[in-house]
Amino acid sequence: MIKRWDFHIHSDLSPCADDEMTPNNIVNMALIKGLSGISITDHNSIKNLIAIEKVAKDKGLDFLPGVELTTKEEIHVLIYFESMDQYQAMDTFLSEVLPRRANRPGLFGHQRIYDENDRVIGEEENLLMNATRASLEEAYRFSNEIDGLFVPAHIDRSSFSILSNLGFIPPHLGIRMIELSKNTSVEQFYKNHPWAKTLSYLKNSDAHHLVDLLEGTEANCFDIQNGESVLKHLKNHQL
Ligand SMILES: [Zn+2]
Ligand SMILES: [Zn+2]
Repeated sequence: MIKRWDFHIHSDLSPCADDEMTPNNIVNMALIKGLSGISITDHNSIKNLIAIEKVAKDKGLDFLPGVELTTKEEIHVLIYFESMDQYQAMDTFLSEVLPRRANRPGLFGHQRIYDENDRVIGEEENLLMNATRASLEEAYRFSNEIDGLFVPAHIDRSSFSILSNLGFIPPHLGIRMIELSKNTSVEQFYKNHPWAKTLSYLKNSDAHHLVDLLEGTEANCFDIQNGESVLKHLKNHQL
């Protein structure tokens, strides 16, 4: 069955995301756009995943839990995990590596935690925009420990990307999938980085506003068999 996914969306928990990025608004917009599945990948926190997964399930939208971690090197990486079973391990890891520095909502934006009825049930106090103490290597190792999928984010961007900050993808890590920004031409990227043709890629919205979610027609498209999880599919179809 053909499934259309946007794997990189921020909720209102991310300080830089719009206040309108609530669980129900995101799920409703994904359905309007013709998506069949979404991942929520907030900066350095997963505290809205439970509510959004509930809403998604209720409305028939597939959901893959994820996070956008900022490594010590200020590289953004996406880590996807199979199910909420790994939620606790991920939550503990993030709380261990996130520096204790208070957010100033007036300056950086709110970091709201919601329930499935879009009620605000809390606010993350530590600023989620900071780099964590986890190195790229440590983050990769942790992702493997929880059988996650590790995808360096928006690697074509001139900041907060593995190429902008390291200049290359360390070959010993065995990274096989990358993310390109929504507005990048894949052909142009391959022209400048021919080695990238040996890797699989995702092209996501990195939406911070509702209107930015991918349209179904521009989404990541996969033929997924009944009973096969999207994460397994991604792992099995990496180059
Ligand atoms: Zn990013
Ligand atoms: Zn992002």
